[in-house]
Amino acid sequence: MASLIEQQIRTRASALLAEGWIDVFVGYRQGATLLRVAPFAARTPAEADRLVWNPVCGPNLVGTLRKYAGQRAGVALKACDACTVVELLRLHQLDRERLYLIGVPCQGMVDPDRVVAVAAGRVTSLVEDGAEVLIGAGNETLRHPRAALLLAKCAGCPAAPPDLYDETLGEAPPAPPAGDRFAAVRALEALAPAERLAFWRQHFSRCTLCYACQTVCPLCFCKECALTLERDDPRRLAREPASVFAYHLMRAFHLAERCTGCDECERVCPEDIPLSLICRKLELDRLEGTSRVAALPFPAPSEVAGEVS
Ligand code: SF4
Ligand code: SF4
Ligand code: SF4
Ligand code: SF4
Repeated sequence: MASLIEQQIRTRASALLAEGWIDVFVGYRQGATLLRVAPFAARTPAEADRLVWNPVCGPNLVGTLRKYAGQRAGVALKACDACTVVELLRLHQLDRERLYLIGVPCQGMVDPDRVVAVAAGRVTSLVEDGAEVLIGAGNETLRHPRAALLLAKCAGCPAAPPDLYDETLGEAPPAPPAGDRFAAVRALEALAPAERLAFWRQHFSRCTLCYACQTVCPLCFCKECALTLERDDPRRLAREPASVFAYHLMRAFHLAERCTGCDECERVCPEDIPLSLICRKLELDRLEGTSRVAALPFPAPSEVAGEVS
Protein backbone atom coordinates (compact mmCIF):
# COMPACT_ATOMS: atom_id res chain seq x y z
CA MET A 1 0.00 0.00 0.00
CA ALA A 2 1.28 3.48 -0.87
CA SER A 3 2.63 5.51 2.05
CA LEU A 4 1.20 8.96 2.79
CA ILE A 5 4.23 10.69 1.24
CA GLU A 6 4.05 8.45 -1.83
CA GLN A 7 0.36 9.31 -2.27
CA GLN A 8 1.12 13.01 -1.88
CA ILE A 9 3.90 12.87 -4.49
CA ARG A 10 1.61 11.10 -6.96
CA THR A 11 -1.23 13.54 -6.32
CA ARG A 12 0.92 16.64 -6.73
CA ALA A 13 2.77 15.29 -9.79
CA SER A 14 -0.52 14.30 -11.41
CA ALA A 15 -2.07 17.72 -10.71
CA LEU A 16 0.95 19.67 -11.99
CA LEU A 17 0.99 17.61 -15.20
CA ALA A 18 -2.79 17.83 -15.69
CA GLU A 19 -2.81 21.60 -15.16
CA GLY A 20 0.05 22.07 -17.63
CA TRP A 21 2.47 23.60 -15.11
CA ILE A 22 5.16 21.10 -16.03
CA ASP A 23 6.03 18.83 -18.96
CA VAL A 24 7.59 16.08 -16.89
CA PHE A 25 7.84 15.02 -13.24
CA VAL A 26 11.02 13.30 -12.05
CA GLY A 27 10.81 10.82 -9.20
CA TYR A 28 11.41 7.12 -8.59
CA ARG A 29 9.70 4.00 -9.90
CA GLN A 30 10.02 0.52 -8.50
CA GLY A 31 13.16 -1.18 -9.77
CA ALA A 32 13.67 -4.76 -10.89
CA THR A 33 13.92 -6.03 -7.31
CA LEU A 34 12.28 -5.08 -4.01
CA LEU A 35 15.26 -3.09 -2.72
CA ARG A 36 15.91 -1.18 -5.94
CA VAL A 37 14.30 1.98 -7.26
CA ALA A 38 15.11 3.73 -10.51
CA PRO A 39 14.71 7.34 -11.65
CA PHE A 40 11.47 7.80 -13.53
CA ALA A 41 10.11 10.70 -15.57
CA ALA A 42 6.30 10.80 -15.57
CA ARG A 43 4.82 12.69 -18.54
CA THR A 44 1.11 12.15 -17.93
CA PRO A 45 -1.14 12.06 -14.85
CA ALA A 46 -1.61 8.34 -15.42
CA GLU A 47 2.17 7.78 -15.37
CA ALA A 48 2.37 9.65 -12.07
CA ASP A 49 0.73 6.60 -10.46
CA ARG A 50 3.97 4.72 -11.05
CA LEU A 51 5.93 7.04 -8.74
CA VAL A 52 7.13 5.45 -5.50
CA TRP A 53 8.65 6.70 -2.26
CA ASN A 54 10.10 4.20 0.17
CA PRO A 55 13.11 3.70 2.48
CA VAL A 56 15.47 2.78 -0.39
CA CYS A 57 14.97 6.02 -2.36
CA GLY A 58 18.59 6.95 -1.73
CA PRO A 59 19.87 7.56 -5.29
CA ASN A 60 20.25 11.17 -6.35
CA LEU A 61 17.53 12.17 -8.85
CA VAL A 62 19.23 15.33 -10.03
CA GLY A 63 21.34 13.67 -12.74
CA THR A 64 18.05 12.60 -14.33
CA LEU A 65 16.51 16.02 -13.74
CA ARG A 66 19.34 17.64 -15.67
CA LYS A 67 18.41 15.60 -18.77
CA TYR A 68 15.16 17.57 -18.84
CA ALA A 69 16.84 20.94 -18.35
CA GLY A 70 15.18 22.41 -21.46
CA GLN A 71 11.69 21.48 -20.27
CA ARG A 72 9.47 22.53 -17.39
CA ALA A 73 10.18 19.85 -14.83
CA GLY A 74 8.85 19.01 -11.40
CA VAL A 75 10.87 16.89 -9.01
CA ALA A 76 10.57 15.37 -5.53
CA LEU A 77 13.71 16.27 -3.59
CA LYS A 78 15.40 14.99 -0.47
CA ALA A 79 17.66 17.53 1.24
CA CYS A 80 20.81 16.00 -0.26
CA ASP A 81 19.33 16.11 -3.76
CA ALA A 82 18.30 19.71 -3.16
CA CYS A 83 21.94 20.55 -2.42
CA THR A 84 22.85 19.23 -5.88
CA VAL A 85 20.15 21.40 -7.43
CA VAL A 86 21.60 24.42 -5.64
CA GLU A 87 25.03 23.63 -7.07
CA LEU A 88 23.71 23.14 -10.61
CA LEU A 89 21.81 26.43 -10.37
CA ARG A 90 25.03 28.12 -9.24
CA LEU A 91 26.82 26.64 -12.25
CA HIS A 92 24.01 27.70 -14.62
CA GLN A 93 23.17 24.12 -15.57
CA LEU A 94 19.53 24.41 -14.52
CA ASP A 95 17.03 27.20 -14.98
CA ARG A 96 15.12 27.91 -11.78
CA GLU A 97 12.24 29.35 -13.78
CA ARG A 98 11.64 25.97 -15.40
CA LEU A 99 11.71 23.94 -12.19
CA TYR A 100 9.00 23.05 -9.71
CA LEU A 101 10.78 21.80 -6.60
CA ILE A 102 8.90 19.73 -4.03
CA GLY A 103 10.76 19.15 -0.77
CA VAL A 104 10.17 15.72 0.75
CA PRO A 105 10.97 15.06 4.43
CA CYS A 106 13.60 12.37 4.86
CA GLN A 107 14.53 10.44 8.00
CA GLY A 108 17.46 8.82 6.23
CA MET A 109 17.47 6.20 3.50
CA VAL A 110 18.50 2.63 4.20
CA ASP A 111 21.38 0.86 2.53
CA PRO A 112 20.01 -2.15 0.59
CA ASP A 113 23.19 -4.11 1.29
CA ARG A 114 22.69 -3.69 5.05
CA VAL A 115 19.08 -4.86 4.78
CA VAL A 116 20.16 -7.93 2.86
CA ALA A 117 22.80 -8.66 5.50
CA VAL A 118 20.27 -8.37 8.35
CA ALA A 119 17.87 -10.71 6.57
CA ALA A 120 20.62 -13.10 5.51
CA GLY A 121 19.68 -12.50 1.89
CA ARG A 122 15.99 -13.49 2.26
CA VAL A 123 14.27 -10.09 1.98
CA THR A 124 10.60 -10.39 1.02
CA SER A 125 9.28 -7.03 2.25
CA LEU A 126 10.46 -3.72 3.72
CA VAL A 127 8.11 -1.39 5.59
CA GLU A 128 8.79 1.80 7.58
CA ASP A 129 7.44 2.01 11.10
CA GLY A 130 8.60 5.23 12.72
CA ALA A 131 12.21 4.90 13.82
CA GLU A 132 12.22 1.23 12.82
CA VAL A 133 11.86 -0.80 9.67
CA LEU A 134 10.12 -4.12 9.38
CA ILE A 135 12.06 -6.53 7.20
CA GLY A 136 10.27 -9.58 5.85
CA ALA A 137 12.76 -12.43 5.80
CA GLY A 138 11.10 -15.59 4.54
CA ASN A 139 8.35 -16.40 7.06
CA GLU A 140 9.78 -14.05 9.71
CA THR A 141 9.41 -10.29 10.22
CA LEU A 142 12.48 -8.64 11.69
CA ARG A 143 12.09 -5.30 13.47
CA HIS A 144 15.29 -3.30 13.12
CA PRO A 145 16.31 0.26 14.10
CA ARG A 146 16.33 2.36 10.97
CA ALA A 147 19.36 4.30 12.22
CA ALA A 148 21.49 1.15 12.09
CA LEU A 149 20.71 0.59 8.41
CA LEU A 150 21.23 4.06 6.97
CA LEU A 151 23.43 4.99 4.05
CA ALA A 152 26.76 6.48 5.08
CA LYS A 153 25.81 9.83 3.54
CA CYS A 154 22.91 10.20 5.99
CA ALA A 155 25.23 10.77 8.96
CA GLY A 156 25.24 14.54 9.36
CA CYS A 157 22.65 15.08 6.64
CA PRO A 158 23.24 18.37 4.80
CA ALA A 159 20.51 20.98 5.04
CA ALA A 160 19.12 22.56 1.89
CA PRO A 161 18.05 26.21 1.93
CA PRO A 162 14.45 26.24 3.17
CA ASP A 163 13.50 28.94 0.65
CA LEU A 164 14.55 26.75 -2.29
CA TYR A 165 11.34 24.77 -2.56
CA ASP A 166 8.09 25.69 -4.26
CA GLU A 167 6.33 23.51 -1.74
CA THR A 168 7.13 20.88 0.86
CA LEU A 169 5.23 17.72 1.73
CA GLY A 170 4.42 16.29 5.11
CA GLU A 171 4.23 17.96 8.45
CA ALA A 172 7.26 19.47 10.17
CA PRO A 173 10.09 17.23 8.95
CA PRO A 174 11.69 15.00 11.58
CA ALA A 175 15.23 15.95 12.57
CA PRO A 176 17.71 14.50 10.09
CA PRO A 177 19.92 11.67 11.30
CA ALA A 178 22.74 12.77 13.57
CA GLY A 179 26.32 11.62 13.18
CA ASP A 180 29.81 12.70 12.26
CA ARG A 181 29.92 12.98 8.50
CA PHE A 182 33.71 13.15 8.56
CA ALA A 183 34.65 10.42 11.06
CA ALA A 184 35.94 7.97 8.46
CA VAL A 185 37.97 10.55 6.59
CA ARG A 186 39.54 11.86 9.80
CA ALA A 187 40.56 8.31 10.67
CA LEU A 188 42.17 7.97 7.25
CA GLU A 189 43.96 11.29 7.62
CA ALA A 190 45.42 10.06 10.90
CA LEU A 191 47.27 7.25 9.11
CA ALA A 192 50.91 7.60 8.12
CA PRO A 193 51.45 8.35 4.39
CA ALA A 194 52.71 4.82 3.75
CA GLU A 195 49.58 3.36 5.34
CA ARG A 196 47.35 5.66 3.30
CA LEU A 197 49.19 4.65 0.17
CA ALA A 198 48.70 0.99 1.03
CA PHE A 199 45.00 1.67 1.68
CA TRP A 200 44.43 3.32 -1.70
CA ARG A 201 46.72 0.97 -3.57
CA GLN A 202 44.67 -1.94 -2.29
CA HIS A 203 41.36 -0.33 -3.25
CA PHE A 204 42.51 1.08 -6.58
CA SER A 205 43.95 -2.29 -7.57
CA ARG A 206 40.30 -3.27 -8.15
CA CYS A 207 39.47 -0.21 -10.27
CA THR A 208 38.71 -1.22 -13.85
CA LEU A 209 38.48 2.39 -15.07
CA CYS A 210 34.94 1.69 -16.14
CA TYR A 211 34.08 5.44 -15.72
CA ALA A 212 30.79 4.65 -13.98
CA CYS A 213 31.72 7.00 -11.12
CA GLN A 214 32.25 9.85 -13.58
CA THR A 215 29.22 9.03 -15.72
CA VAL A 216 26.78 9.00 -12.82
CA CYS A 217 28.04 12.17 -11.13
CA PRO A 218 25.37 14.87 -11.48
CA LEU A 219 28.08 17.52 -11.31
CA CYS A 220 30.18 16.05 -14.12
CA PHE A 221 28.48 17.69 -17.06
CA CYS A 222 31.29 18.78 -19.41
CA LYS A 223 30.43 18.03 -23.03
CA GLU A 224 34.00 16.87 -23.58
CA CYS A 225 35.30 15.22 -20.44
CA ALA A 226 39.03 15.54 -19.96
CA LEU A 227 39.12 12.12 -18.37
CA THR A 228 37.19 10.21 -20.98
CA LEU A 229 39.13 11.87 -23.81
CA GLU A 230 42.07 9.77 -22.69
CA ARG A 231 39.98 6.64 -22.52
CA ASP A 232 41.91 4.87 -25.25
CA ASP A 233 45.33 5.77 -23.88
CA PRO A 234 47.25 2.47 -23.76
CA ARG A 235 48.19 3.12 -20.11
CA ARG A 236 44.52 3.57 -19.27
CA LEU A 237 43.56 0.46 -21.17
CA ALA A 238 46.26 -1.44 -19.31
CA ARG A 239 44.90 -0.01 -16.02
CA GLU A 240 48.38 0.76 -14.82
CA PRO A 241 48.36 1.84 -11.15
CA ALA A 242 49.73 5.29 -12.05
CA SER A 243 46.87 5.77 -14.53
CA VAL A 244 44.30 4.76 -11.98
CA PHE A 245 45.74 7.13 -9.36
CA ALA A 246 45.91 9.91 -11.94
CA TYR A 247 42.27 9.36 -12.93
CA HIS A 248 41.08 9.65 -9.34
CA LEU A 249 43.34 12.60 -8.53
CA MET A 250 42.12 14.50 -11.58
CA ARG A 251 38.50 13.75 -10.89
CA ALA A 252 38.91 14.84 -7.28
CA PHE A 253 40.44 18.15 -8.33
CA HIS A 254 37.71 18.74 -10.92
CA LEU A 255 35.02 18.13 -8.31
CA ALA A 256 36.77 19.95 -5.46
CA GLU A 257 34.51 22.97 -5.64
CA ARG A 258 31.33 21.24 -6.70
CA CYS A 259 30.92 17.89 -4.97
CA THR A 260 27.92 17.85 -2.65
CA GLY A 261 28.65 14.43 -1.17
CA CYS A 262 25.68 12.65 -2.73
CA ASP A 263 27.75 9.43 -2.89
CA GLU A 264 26.35 8.38 -6.26
CA CYS A 265 29.89 7.63 -7.43
CA GLU A 266 30.43 5.13 -4.62
CA ARG A 267 26.95 3.65 -5.02
CA VAL A 268 27.53 2.68 -8.64
CA CYS A 269 31.13 1.50 -8.33
CA PRO A 270 31.04 -2.19 -9.21
CA GLU A 271 34.22 -2.75 -7.21
CA ASP A 272 33.01 -1.20 -3.92
CA ILE A 273 35.81 1.34 -3.87
CA PRO A 274 35.19 3.83 -1.02
CA LEU A 275 35.05 6.92 -3.23
CA SER A 276 32.97 8.75 -0.63
CA LEU A 277 36.15 9.18 1.42
CA ILE A 278 37.59 11.36 -1.32
CA CYS A 279 34.34 13.30 -1.68
CA ARG A 280 34.02 13.82 2.06
CA LYS A 281 37.58 15.07 2.30
CA LEU A 282 36.92 17.61 -0.43
CA GLU A 283 33.84 18.74 1.46
CA LEU A 284 35.69 18.93 4.77
CA ASP A 285 38.48 21.05 3.37
CA ARG A 286 36.00 23.32 1.69
CA LEU A 287 34.15 23.80 4.98
CA GLU A 288 37.36 24.42 6.84
CA GLY A 289 38.79 26.60 4.08
CA THR A 290 42.03 24.64 3.95
CA SER A 291 44.33 24.27 0.99
CA ARG A 292 43.17 22.36 -2.08
CA VAL A 293 46.54 20.66 -2.23
CA ALA A 294 45.83 19.17 1.18
CA ALA A 295 42.36 18.25 0.04
CA LEU A 296 43.05 14.68 -0.91
CA PRO A 297 43.22 11.76 1.44
CA PHE A 298 45.90 10.31 -0.82
CA PRO A 299 49.56 10.62 0.07
CA ALA A 300 51.12 13.74 -1.43
CA PRO A 301 52.72 13.11 -4.85
CA SER A 302 56.17 13.71 -3.35
CA GLU A 303 55.50 10.86 -0.93
CA VAL A 304 54.62 8.53 -3.74
CA ALA A 305 57.41 9.33 -6.14
CA GLY A 306 57.07 7.16 -9.19
CA GLU A 307 53.56 6.03 -8.25
CA VAL A 308 51.65 9.06 -9.52
CA SER A 309 52.68 10.69 -12.73
S1 SF4 B 1 21.57 12.59 3.26
FE1 SF4 B 1 19.81 13.47 4.33
S2 SF4 B 1 18.28 13.90 2.77
FE2 SF4 B 1 19.81 12.56 1.86
S3 SF4 B 1 18.96 10.48 2.09
FE3 SF4 B 1 20.25 10.87 3.89
S4 SF4 B 1 18.93 11.77 5.47
FE4 SF4 B 1 17.84 11.84 3.51
S1 SF4 C 1 33.24 3.15 -10.81
FE1 SF4 C 1 34.77 2.11 -9.55
S2 SF4 C 1 35.78 0.68 -10.95
FE2 SF4 C 1 34.70 2.19 -12.22
S3 SF4 C 1 36.21 3.83 -12.62
FE3 SF4 C 1 35.09 4.43 -10.80
S4 SF4 C 1 36.29 3.66 -9.08
FE4 SF4 C 1 37.00 2.58 -10.93
S1 SF4 D 1 31.79 13.23 -6.91
FE1 SF4 D 1 30.44 11.62 -6.15
S2 SF4 D 1 29.62 12.45 -4.22
FE2 SF4 D 1 30.47 14.18 -5.37
S3 SF4 D 1 28.74 15.01 -6.51
FE3 SF4 D 1 29.78 13.53 -7.85
S4 SF4 D 1 28.70 11.60 -7.54
FE4 SF4 D 1 28.15 12.98 -5.85
S1 SF4 E 1 35.63 14.65 -14.75
FE1 SF4 E 1 36.15 16.80 -15.03
S2 SF4 E 1 36.14 17.11 -17.25
FE2 SF4 E 1 35.05 15.20 -16.86
S3 SF4 E 1 32.89 15.80 -16.76
FE3 SF4 E 1 33.72 15.80 -14.66
S4 SF4 E 1 34.33 17.90 -14.27
FE4 SF4 E 1 34.11 17.67 -16.50
